[in-house]
Amino acid sequence: MKKQAHVISHSHWDREWYLPYEKHHMLEVEFMDKLLDTLERDPEFKSFHLDGQTIMLDDYLQVRPERRGLVEKLVREKRLYIGPWYILQDEWLTGSESNLRNLETGMREAKEYGNVSRVGYFPDSFGNMGQAPQILLDAGIDCAAFGRGVKPTGFNNEVSDGADFASRYSEMFWESPDGSRILGVLFANWYSNGIEIPTDPGEAEKYWEKKLADAMKFASTDHLLFMNGCDHQPVQTDLTDALKTAAKLYPEIDFVHSDFTGYMECLKQELKEDLAVIKGELRSQETDGWYTLANTASSRIYLKQRNARCEALFTRAAEPLAAMAHDRGMEYPHHLFDYGWKTLMQNHPHDSICGCSVDEVHREMEARFEKAEQVALHIIGECLAWFSAHVDTGKYNTGEGAVPFLVINPTGFYKSEVTKFDLIVKKYPFQGSSVAACLEQARQEELPAYRIVDSEGNEVMGSVELLPYAFGYDLPKDRFRNAYFGRSVRVTLETAGQEPFSVKSYCLVPVTENEAERKPVKAESLFTSEYVMENEWLSCRINENGTVDITHKPSGRIYREAVMLEDTRDIGNEYIYFKPVGEAPVLSGNSEAVLARTEDKPYRAAVQAKVTMEIPVSADERLEQEIHDLVEFRHRKAGSSVRTLPMTVTVTYILERAGKGLKVEVAFDNQALDHRLRMLVGTGLDTPWHYADSIFEVAKRSNSVSEYWENPCNAQHQQLFVNVHEEQAGMTVANHGLNEYEILPGDAQTGKIIALTLHRGVREMGDWGDFPTPQAQCLGKQHKEFALFPHGAGEDLMRSYEEAYAYSSSLWGVRSEMQDASIPDGFTFLKYSTDTLLWTALKVQEETGDVIFRAFNASEKEGELALETKRRLYRSNVLGEKKEYLEQGKIPVRGYGIFTAGLEKKDGE
Ligand SMILES: [Zn+2]
Repeated sequence: MKKQAHVISHSHWDREWYLPYEKHHMLEVEFMDKLLDTLERDPEFKSFHLDGQTIMLDDYLQVRPERRGLVEKLVREKRLYIGPWYILQDEWLTGSESNLRNLETGMREAKEYGNVSRVGYFPDSFGNMGQAPQILLDAGIDCAAFGRGVKPTGFNNEVSDGADFASRYSEMFWESPDGSRILGVLFANWYSNGIEIPTDPGEAEKYWEKKLADAMKFASTDHLLFMNGCDHQPVQTDLTDALKTAAKLYPEIDFVHSDFTGYMECLKQELKEDLAVIKGELRSQETDGWYTLANTASSRIYLKQRNARCEALFTRAAEPLAAMAHDRGMEYPHHLFDYGWKTLMQNHPHDSICGCSVDEVHREMEARFEKAEQVALHIIGECLAWFSAHVDTGKYNTGEGAVPFLVINPTGFYKSEVTKFDLIVKKYPFQGSSVAACLEQARQEELPAYRIVDSEGNEVMGSVELLPYAFGYDLPKDRFRNAYFGRSVRVTLETAGQEPFSVKSYCLVPVTENEAERKPVKAESLFTSEYVMENEWLSCRINENGTVDITHKPSGRIYREAVMLEDTRDIGNEYIYFKPVGEAPVLSGNSEAVLARTEDKPYRAAVQAKVTMEIPVSADERLEQEIHDLVEFRHRKAGSSVRTLPMTVTVTYILERAGKGLKVEVAFDNQALDHRLRMLVGTGLDTPWHYADSIFEVAKRSNSVSEYWENPCNAQHQQLFVNVHEEQAGMTVANHGLNEYEILPGDAQTGKIIALTLHRGVREMGDWGDFPTPQAQCLGKQHKEFALFPHGAGEDLMRSYEEAYAYSSSLWGVRSEMQDASIPDGFTFLKYSTDTLLWTALKVQEETGDVIFRAFNASEKEGELALETKRRLYRSNVLGEKKEYLEQGKIPVRGYGIFTAGLEKKDGE
């Protein structure tokens, strides 16, 4: 058969990167103008692939609304290909649900524009998530194109056995751990291998001679792919002529102006039998390890922390709260979610969330996070108000001054923890009174002491702190705003195993005189000696150097000096960490810490350890010159400055009576440049594998590197936790927005060490030029949070994963009125049970009005899920589309499977 050269026109369009968003945007308008003109002028210019993302059209039409008709016509006619994504995300640094919402939004929007491009497009992703084939296939997409993660070896290179991440062809099968398999195409010669095709026959011959040979080196069929474009590449307006020239030069080759749909169809007809099957995550495992760009996980950690918070607010608070309230009559705010999610996802492109752009870009991102967070908090506020007005609290016949309130668990996990929130107990409204009179009343108000009781009248572990008077206001839905002086209390409360998706009522009851002498609930301190805190599961001794020895009581295993700080220089860039050759790290274990008890309540204890490390102020002066001269980081000779400064790091260890983990908060004021600070967690375990929470997958990763790996750093991405375990015991380290970790080999005493990056500061963007980024130094006050969950054998491992997931979300408290109302106290929206599945979503699907429940199997073995619901239940795909009805009872879920259930809406909903 005649060889076919498929030329696909495209431009990879980073919305923001080495230029601020609006500068790229203005260039995009210019680019799109020219593209549309070319498509209109030249009917032989068949089509253009608009980079797999729909947001490019939104951005364009924001400035050129008059061209919407033309854009939609071109999409319908399949001359402009858009989607399936909304934006081109970083797959590792955005949560499981964010990755899906990106696909769902992109496919919906592309359909609205006129047509969806059904190829999973990852041109520039810094590695690819292992569950991409499963997600795409479930959404009806059976092929993907990607630029990184697999090493192409070409004809002349042997592919050795076990080289799972190398392929001799650019075409391969890509398989998720659950066995879902799609056709994958690697841009073996990058996505610019058909850029700027000459029209002049002489130049064209030279061009094609090389390009054809390069493509044939990796192609498994007679269909050769040429990507006619690159990053922000203007449209080649004379492409038609260039292809005519090529056709004349090579009559034996069929040059077609192609598109992905056509190209993939051709490939599928002729696939070779010996195509490699690449399994799971594509993390460039078989490369030298320098350009995996994994250290984008620690560039500008403040962005990752903001993102983790926003994702938690949407998926583990606002959506499930709204679904629960909707079940009881509240309208589900689809429009607000759509807007909020889009605002958040605008921070998810790979150059954005990776923190590898110029400072202007990341400043704008902070405003977007702010906006997204406000949307989520608004929805949460509306839901809390709904429950406040509709939950029955009539049973609290506790007399005058009693204040009922609700604690709501919107997550899919049991919550045993100490939660804290403020409740207004008294208001003096300005309406009908003078401000001065209100002030006087609020000042004079003598609030009683309160105790907390539950609906059975039992006193609950916690405390109630009276707060000083303060200004406040209500915004009634049907009247003018209502300002007041109010009195509030701060309620601290221990919940013991509050059920998933449940609302529980409590009451503040004034302590009367004859009660004042009553015995409080069992109230022993958690301290067993000066700096030893102990609960049912853990005993934690804070050492003189500020580290901690943790004894996991059920397994008897002791983790010694489990938390130690490590500081090193970084003369790399936003993409890549690089330590000056030969320099030793500064370790906190060598210093003496100042210890203090900071909390000693029966439900919670805390010890603060202040450690001061003497670290260099920055890299030495050579670094500036080397950056200026574009010396690649690997060849830099810069070392550390001889000047040092004392960096004081405050590590607070928090143990709760009801919690199985030790929470750790780290605070410091960073004034040093060019360095990385990590927390080293010695596990005492010696294992070849570890497990990282990733996208709908707890990924099993090797502790060692391949023989090709040269980078001394093997940092990796995580979502909510990383775990190291042996058969009898293990350690799960959960985090709030700390996406980078590394497993260090350690020694006989420490065992494998989990190194968690807390801070990384660099002075330049890196990549293709000199782009200074002073704000990437992350100067100023920093606050980081993580938690250690040691666990025992068997099921305990999965329970520790659940604890880590539960750690990533909060309970919500709201004041209520004494009222007889329709929602019973103790209301649980959905009871479910499972052995190995982890919950990720509960929301209402816009198209159907049905409730969507999603979880994934964190184990390789088949798992079980049972949902207790009176609604009709069906299996859905990841897009929320109905697939098949399910019987009530236990539902088997294949190993590593993502399971989405639909709960049909009730009549009248
Ligand atoms: Zn890019």
